[in-house]
Parts: sequence; structure tokens; C-alpha cells
Amino acid sequence: MPLILDGKKAAEALAAALQEKVKLWPAALTLSVIQVGARADSNAYIKAKTAFAEKIGVKVELVKFPEDILEEIVTSAVLERNNRTDIQGIIVQLPLPAHWDADVILENIIPEKDVDALTAKNVKNLLAGRAGLMPATAAGILKLLEFYGLPLSGKRALVVGRSLMVGKAIALAFLNQDATVTICHKKTENLAALAKEADILVVAAGRPALIGKDCVKAGQVVIDVGINEVPGGKLDEEIFGRKLVGDVKFDEVSPIVAAISPVPGGVGPMTVAALFSNLLDLVGNLKY
Ligand code: NAD
Repeated sequence: MPLILDGKKAAEALAAALQEKVKLWPAALTLSVIQVGARADSNAYIKAKTAFAEKIGVKVELVKFPEDILEEIVTSAVLERNNRTDIQGIIVQLPLPAHWDADVILENIIPEKDVDALTAKNVKNLLAGRAGLMPATAAGILKLLEFYGLPLSGKRALVVGRSLMVGKAIALAFLNQDATVTICHKKTENLAALAKEADILVVAAGRPALIGKDCVKAGQVVIDVGINEVPGGKLDEEIFGRKLVGDVKFDEVSPIVAAISPVPGGVGPMTVAALFSNLLDLVGNLKY
């Protein structure tokens, strides 16, 4: 059987380390989360962030706006929090309403409080391979690999998915760790053959059952980033009455490969933990 890359376990270890850092901060640390609308998935992600924050002793200020709020009001809320010394990090929960330009809103966050690392300065740092924050999913995957002692340097990595926040961020993070990286997407031909060549296969397509036994080989490390809701499942696996699955056919792939992250319980908990690691990194740069 493969090594199961247990994100809950790795996130617990990170939580313990972060809790120690929080204790060193002389005042309360607060992360502000700005939410527009009330999507069920966003509510679930915010709940997970709040629970992790409580565990490590960070406060979460949740600022909720209705779906039909004016963009200027959300912008003002961000700008006001940029200037507040009692708030160390700001997240604008994505997705925003479909007709909004998320980049315009996000760019209002000062880089010093940009916990999601999605403002231009942080993205440019990632692109340039400079030290700095990176989007939480990419950071979480690096920490998961590190926790299990799986090196990236010199390895052939293949990332399925090219969104800025997930696929591209992971690919750049891996490149910065000296992996040789291929990015695949929905127009890629021969995905299975390419995937088989990788030492580390990361799948972030949001397509359940995309990766089966035809795409993998013995010895590979498989990281399943996808979160998909499908009908059915056992009660304890359900969220909103639906089962969560990744992009990889776990039962089919796991007997073949060397290591694999499950869904749920793999990248998800590490994404949340990495977000707070980002917050503490930002705080570490502040003078007090
Ligand atoms: P997205 O829809 O923005 O991007 C999906 C990407 O997958 C695109 O680049 C597309 O080209 C590619 N793709 C789609 N179908 C494909 C196919 N058949 N073959 C190859 N490539 C294909 O989604 P996203 O925001 O990048 O998120 C991807 C997945 O990761 C989603 O399931 C999302 O829920 C999940 N996610 C998980 C975490 C976590 O913490 N585990 C965090 C963020 C996102």
C-alpha cells in the first residue's frame, strides 16, 4: 500500500508550531475575512479557517456583505482594514459575484496584509522565484511534501490545471524548488502518457475521476487537489448531503503509486494551515 499523505496530521503539526509563534506576539492577532454573498462552499471554507484560527489563538473578524452590495463599499472595507493596527491580515473570500473583477478588489489589499498572496507584488515574487508568500494551496502542498520528507529538487513534476491561484501557483512553487515542471490543462493531448512520466503528479482540475490507473506508474507521488461534490457517500464524509471526492480515482490509483494524498484530508487541511503560516510570516516582518 502507498504512503498516505495525511494532511490532517501534517496540519496538526503545523498548528502546534504556529501556536507557539502566536504566543510570542504581544497583542491579539486578527485576520479579517471579507465575504460577499453566502455561498455554501465559501461558508464551509470560512468555518474551517475560523476553527484553525481558534486552535492556534488567532482571532477571525468576519465581515459579511450581501450579494448585491456595491463594490465601492467592499473596497472601502478593505482600505479601512489596511490602516488598522489591530488587523494583521486580510482575505477577500473568493469567488466574488460573477460580474465583479476580483483582481480590482484584491489589489486594494496592501501586500503586507495579503495573506492569500494574490496581489501583484506577491504574484511577481512567486514568478521571479524570490522568497515571499505564495498562495495557500501551493504553500500547503510544499509543507505536506516536506512533512513526509519528499524532495522536489531535480524531480519531474506534472501539474494538471493552470488557474493562477492553484495550478500555476503550484507549478511556480515547484519550479522555485528546482523541480522540472510540466503544466497540463483541458486542451492537453495525451494527458495519460505525460502524467505517467512524472515523479510527482499534482491534479488540480476540479474533474472527478480524471486520473485513473492509465495515468500513473509505480513509484509516483500523487497529490490530489481537486474538491468535487458528488452524490452519495457515507454520512461522515458528507458536506451539505454530498460526498467530497478529488480528481483522482483513489481506489484505482493508490495500489500502484508510492504515495498519495486523500480527499478529504489531504491538501484541504494543509491549505488552511498554510494560510495561517502566511499570516505569521507577515507578522514576523512587522516591528513590535
Ligand atoms: P479552475 O476551474 O479555475 O481551473 C481548473 C483547471 O483545470 C483549468 O486550468 C483547466 O484547464 C484544467 N482542466 C479542466 N478540465 C481538465 C481536463 N479534463 N484535463 C486537464 N485539465 C483540465 O479551478 P481551480 O480554482 O484551479 O481549482 C481546481 C480544483 O482544486 C477544484 O476542484 C477546486 O475545488 C480545488 N481546490 C482545492 C483546494 C484545496 O485546498 N484542496 C484549494 C483550491 C482549489
